[in-house]
Amino acid sequence: MRTLIALILCWLVVPQIQAADSPPNRSDAAFDKEFGDAFFDAYWSLFPDYGVGVGYYKYADRLIVPDDKSRSEILAFIDKSRAKLLSIDPQRLSESRRADWAILDNEFASLRWRITELREWQWDPSTYNVADPFAKILTTEFAPLDDRLKIVARRLQAVPAYYTAAQRNIQRPTLEHTQLAIEQNRGALEVFNSELQSQINASTLSSGERRQLLERAHTARNAIEGYVAALEALLPTLQGGNASSFRLGRARYDKKFFYDIQTGDTAQALYERAVKERDTLHARMDMLADQLWPKYFPNMSMPSDRLEKIGRVIGKMSEQHVAREDFFAEIEKQIPQLADWVTKHGLLTLDPDKPLRVRKTPPHQRGVALAGIDAPGPYNPTAATYYNVIPLDEIPADRTESLLREYNRWMLPILNIHEAIPGHYAQLVYANKSPSRIKSIFANGAMIEGWAVYGERAMLESGYGDHTAEIWLIYSKWLLRSVVNTILDYSVHVNNMSEADAKRLLVREAFQSNEEANGKWRRVQLSSVQLTSYFAGYAAIYELREQLKREQPQQFELKRFHEQFLGYGNAPVRIIRDLMLQTNSGS
Ligand code: ZN
Ligand code: ZN
Repeated sequence: MRTLIALILCWLVVPQIQAADSPPNRSDAAFDKEFGDAFFDAYWSLFPDYGVGVGYYKYADRLIVPDDKSRSEILAFIDKSRAKLLSIDPQRLSESRRADWAILDNEFASLRWRITELREWQWDPSTYNVADPFAKILTTEFAPLDDRLKIVARRLQAVPAYYTAAQRNIQRPTLEHTQLAIEQNRGALEVFNSELQSQINASTLSSGERRQLLERAHTARNAIEGYVAALEALLPTLQGGNASSFRLGRARYDKKFFYDIQTGDTAQALYERAVKERDTLHARMDMLADQLWPKYFPNMSMPSDRLEKIGRVIGKMSEQHVAREDFFAEIEKQIPQLADWVTKHGLLTLDPDKPLRVRKTPPHQRGVALAGIDAPGPYNPTAATYYNVIPLDEIPADRTESLLREYNRWMLPILNIHEAIPGHYAQLVYANKSPSRIKSIFANGAMIEGWAVYGERAMLESGYGDHTAEIWLIYSKWLLRSVVNTILDYSVHVNNMSEADAKRLLVREAFQSNEEANGKWRRVQLSSVQLTSYFAGYAAIYELREQLKREQPQQFELKRFHEQFLGYGNAPVRIIRDLMLQTNSGS
C-alpha cells in the first residue's frame, strides 16, 4: 500500500540561503521596543473589534466609524510603523524575530493594499455589521456584568454614525454580498433585543442606567434596520445588472493570494498542482475501489465509469458509522488514543499537562462547524482550550444521518486528527511554547490549516488505520476536498467557472453531497483565496519535508522535523522554510 501513496510533488522553490551569523539579540532589543506593548496598544486603538476578539478589552467601548478619517488614520499608522520596521535590519535579528519582522512587513503591505486597491469597503456591504463584538462583550466574563453593560452603553452611541458611513461607502456592491449583508444584519438585531434584555435583567444597574441603555439599543436597532432597508432598495438595480461581479479576476486574486497564503508559490502554480493532484487521487481511488468492490458488493458487477464506482464504494462504506447517541463519547475516547499513537510512533512530543477537554459547543458558538478547537487568545493565556462538538440531538434527524455518514467509521478519526492531535490542538500547544504576540495576532492561515492537513497524512504514513484500502480511500476523499477547494476557488475567481461546472466538480469529481456542494458554491462567491489555504499549506509543508529528506538523508529525523517546524509558531510556511533551511544547512 505504501507505494500507492507516494505522490510526486513537483513544484520546488529553492530559497536563497543566507549566512545567519549575526551578533545575537542586540537588534532584538530594538525590535522588541518598537513592536512591543506600545505598538499593539496603538494597533488595538485602531482595531478595537479585533481586540475584543483576541481578549484585549481596553478599547472595547470604542466603535470605529468606517469613514475617510478612520481609513486615513490606519494608513498613517501603517506608514509610520513600516518606516520603523525598515530601520531595523532583519539579518541582524535572531530567528524568531526575523520571522516576526517578515510577518509585519507582509501585514503592513497587505493592509495598505486592501484599503487602497482591493477596497472591499466599497463593494462588500457585509463588512458592515456591529453585532459580533457586542455579543462577545455581553457573553465573555472579562469584567463584572455591570461594567460590561456600561461598555456596551458607550459603544452603542456610535452605531448610527457607523451605518451612515457604511451607506456612504457603498458603490456598485456585488449582489451576493448585498444579500449576505441583509441577512446577517437582520440577524444582528437579535443581540440588541433578547440577549441584551436578559443581561440587563441580571445586572444591578440603576433604573436610569437601564433606561439609557435601552434607548441607545433602540436607536442602534433603527440604524441597523435603516441599513437593511437601504440595501433592499438597491436589490432591483443590482439584479438588473448594475452590480460588481463577485469574481475577483486574475490581478486582484494573484495579489490577495500572495499576501494571504505566503507559501512562496503563485496562485496559478498551486492551481496547476491541484489539478495534477486531483488526477493522481482519482487514479489511486480507482485502484482502491477495485480492491474493495467485491467485499462491499459481492456478486455485483462494477460500473464501467470509475467515478461512479468510487462513489458507490464510499457510499456503501459510509453506512458504517457510530450511533447518534454515541457520537460524543466516541470522540472523547479517540482523543487520548491519538495522543498515545503520536507519542509511541515518534511523531511529536506532547505535553501531558495539557490534555484537551471535549465539550458540547456552547450555544452562542454554534455555527456551521461540526467540531472545532476553541482556544484562548494571546491575551488570555491561562484559559482552557476546548474541543467543541455540536450536540447531535439538537439537529434535525435527516441532517444528523448525513453527518454521521460523512463522519463514518474511517472519517471520524481523520476529523479528530485534523482538529486535535496532531492537528490544530497540538500545533497550538507548540505555538504557545515560544510565545510571539506577532505570530499569534497575525497568524498565517495556510500554515495552520496546512499543518492539520499534513498531520492527517503523517498519521496514516505511520500506520494509523493499518494501511487498509478503506482508510486510504476515505482519506483520499478527504484530501480531495482540500484539492478541489483550490481548483474551485481559482477557477471561479480567475477562470469564470459557471455554477453548473462548479457543482459538477464538487459532486461528481469530489464525491460530495448536493447539500455540501450548494454550501461550497455559496462560500466561493462570498470569499476568495481562503479556500486554497488548506492545500497550499499542506503541499508546501510536505515539499519542505521531502526536500530536507533528499538533501540530508543521514540527519533527517521525522520527529525533529515536526517539532522544529512547529517551534516557529504560526508563521507563514515560506518564512519557516527559509529559517529551517538556514539552520539545517549549518551556516
Ligand atoms: Zn446510517
Ligand atoms: Zn482546520
